[in-house]
Amino acid sequence: MPHKDREQRLAYLRAWKLKNRPSPEPEAQTDASLPPRGVVVFSADGTQVQCHSCGEWLGSLNMHFRVHGLDARSYKELYDLPRTRSLWPPALKDKQREAALDRNQGAVGRANIAPTTGRPAGQDARLGVRLEASAARKGVNTRAGEKTKPKS
Ligand SMILES: [Zn+2]
Repeated sequence: MPHKDREQRLAYLRAWKLKNRPSPEPEAQTDASLPPRGVVVFSADGTQVQCHSCGEWLGSLNMHFRVHGLDARSYKELYDLPRTRSLWPPALKDKQREAALDRNQGAVGRANIAPTTGRPAGQDARLGVRLEASAARKGVNTRAGEKTKPKS
């Protein structure tokens, strides 16, 4: 489904994921002051995130893990968070996104991708390439591993 609008595309993807790949139910921790396992809890204004280990509210968890002897991967594993879940509060995420757009980060990434010629378009062209490749291989390798036709 083609989308011209980012928000429309994200809404479609969220709805698809909710229908086809629902997340497991969050599980409350024994200490009720700590956020439940499986969800990241943000403050109402979206500027802070709550630590699953100590319950402290922070601007970002990314350096705080070390206090508990964890890194992002082990933290997410310990608290049943998806590997791809961002631990940034929404306000920080938006700020970082704006900064990346301002410095045209997409162009920086595209400059490092090698240009490709691509494969030929159309069924005839694809079939032609396969037939050519098949003809070139013909007789080169036999079942016993003996080569009956020298590779040119
Ligand atoms: Zn903590």
